[in-house]
Formats: sequence, C-alpha cells, structure tokens
Amino acid sequence: ALILAIETSCDDTSAAVVNTDYQVLSNVVSSQEKTHSQYGGIVPELASRMHYEAIDTITHRALEQAQVKLDDIDAVAVTSCPGLVGSLLVGVNFAKGLAWSAGKPLIAVHHIEGHLLAPLIEHRLNFPFLSCVISGGHTSIYRANGFGDYQQLSRTIDDAAGEAFDKVSKMMGFSYPGGPVIDKLAQQGEVGIKFTTPRIKNNPMDFSFSGIKTAVLTYLRNHPDVNFADVAASFQETVAKYIVYRAAELCRQNGVSLLAFSGGVSANSALRRIASQLQTQGITTCFSSLPYCTDNAAMIGIAAIYRYKKADFAQHLNINASASTAL
Ligand code: ATP
Ligand code: FE
Repeated sequence: ALILAIETSCDDTSAAVVNTDYQVLSNVVSSQEKTHSQYGGIVPELASRMHYEAIDTITHRALEQAQVKLDDIDAVAVTSCPGLVGSLLVGVNFAKGLAWSAGKPLIAVHHIEGHLLAPLIEHRLNFPFLSCVISGGHTSIYRANGFGDYQQLSRTIDDAAGEAFDKVSKMMGFSYPGGPVIDKLAQQGEVGIKFTTPRIKNNPMDFSFSGIKTAVLTYLRNHPDVNFADVAASFQETVAKYIVYRAAELCRQNGVSLLAFSGGVSANSALRRIASQLQTQGITTCFSSLPYCTDNAAMIGIAAIYRYKKADFAQHLNINASASTAL
C-alpha cells in the first residue's frame, strides 16, 4: 500500500510517498532557511504563510517523483503535533482537504514519533532499542519496546541540544540554523577549552544545556581574541560526549544493546565519531543519512505504516493541530 505524507510542523514544507514495506518512493523538502536566517530565527507568521504558498506544489512534486497519482494512494498521513500551531495547521488542513476530496483515510502522526522511527527508513531495527531524539526542540531518550510503545528515559530540563547549537552560533555572529555552521567551523579548530555539563540532582539521567550555553558566552566575553573554530570544536565535543555517554549509560541500565539517533543534531560529525566508539562496549549504533535527520515527510509516512496496518484512522477526518504534547 502507498501512503502520502505531509509535514509542516516547523520551517520545512515536505511531502513524501512511502510504501508499507518501508520504502521511500519520494521525499521532497522545501526549506525556508534562507528567509528565516535573515531574522536570526524562525518567524512563525512567515513560516505559516510560506507553507501555505508551497504545500500544493510540493505535494504534487512528491507524487510526480514517486510516479504515482493521488488515486493510487491508500492513505494520507500528516504531522498533527507538536510544532508551531500556524505551521501545523497548514499541513493538517491541506491533508484533510486532500483526503476528503480523494476519499482516502487520514492518519495523524506525532512529529517526534516520526523522528524516532526515521532510522527504519534505512535500517532494519529489532525492538527493543533505545532512541535518542536530538533536534531543535527536543533532547530525549526513549526505550522503544514496539510500535507506539515508547518509554521516556531522559529529557532536557531547559534548552534542546539543537537550540544550544543555534544559540552558540548566534553568539559568534553566524547564521541560523547554527548546527551545520558550528560543525563545519569545528573541523578547523582544536578541542581544548574546558566546558562542563551538569548532572541534575534529582533526575541524574536528564539533560540541561543552558549552563554550557552561558559558559560559552562568558568565555567569548573574557577572550575577545579567541579563535572561534576552537570554541566551536570544544563546545561540539562537550555536547556530543554528554549525549552519547548518557545514552550509553542508559543502554547498560536497560540491558539494551541497540541505540538509534535521530533529529537534526544526529547529523553532527563529532557525535557520530564518538558514538561509533561504543561498538567496543557492545553497543550497536544506528544513524540515518542527513536528509532523514532533519525534518522530512518520509519519516512521517514511515511512522504512519503501523497505524495504517491497524486501520487506526482519524474518524471523520477529525484531527487537530496542537503545539505541544508528550509522545
Ligand atoms: P523538533 O523536531 O524538536 O520540533 P526541529 O524539527 O526544528 O525540532 P530538526 O529539524 O530535527 O529540529 O533539527 C534542527 C536542529 O538540528 C537545528 O537546531 C540545527 O541547528 C540542528 N543541526 C542540524 N545539523 C546539525 C549538525 N551538523 N550538528 C549539530 N546540530 C545540527
Ligand atoms: Fe523535527
């Protein structure tokens, strides 16, 4: 069966066609990055307007690239939460209209479940596995026991990892999104500046990124002549080790030896290098290629497959967009 998936939760307009054998037939992403980078971050009103302008074209391009017609599609899947409500609404309303007019069932997908299951696009993963979702808005580790059965083991109590990358980039005067900028800059720098990451008293497995962000800011103020590349390399190394070592610790605690990473920050080269060293500890790690790390509709289609198989459809196309809900 074929699923047409739509994702507009943040600043990427995306549509994809996947089949229920976990194959991606097309995955079209239109990024608004250039527009928002002029403002140093996402402007919600602009985001929803740009989604509105792009959604129809992007969807038709996805069908075209998959060489299928709307008639051939068996269900429409759409991200319903969490995200910017104005952005989500564009995708949700478009998907409703499309499903209604074509007489197709509609499936609501949680964006974070999309990220969590994205590794299934390229890898065969057996449950249980631990999944580290590190994105612009989330830094969470789940124990995935089966489809729809996710137990949160760790989360951030303040900023998300991607947010920390974005803020540190901004402090040095670079553009949004900051992750790719820091990653590239770090290649030319030396890891040497000491930044520390906290272990939170009552929740030792949770993350906190606000301290390291302030530490970088203070360091930059006190060392106006510092080489930015060294700051980038040191910051990135610290964050990567913080996440990877914490995830490894949770693998041991849970007796799980398979660890998947997803979300935009999982594109980070230092994080990938450090994670690859876990193999010697008997932990197998799994990463997606870059287009499936950041937001994309293919992962939404993939996360819709088990619901399709259970015929878990939205009744009367009755789904709502919402800003925040736990997975
Ligand atoms: P959420 O999924 O939590 O709602 P989001 O969808 O905005 O947030 P993603 O698209 O998954 O997040 O990821 C975007 C984030 O990933 C940005 O913060 C960006 O800076 C970061 N990022 C992208 N590439 C890299 C990289 N190479 N290194 C570190 N961070 C990166
Ligand atoms: Fe995302």
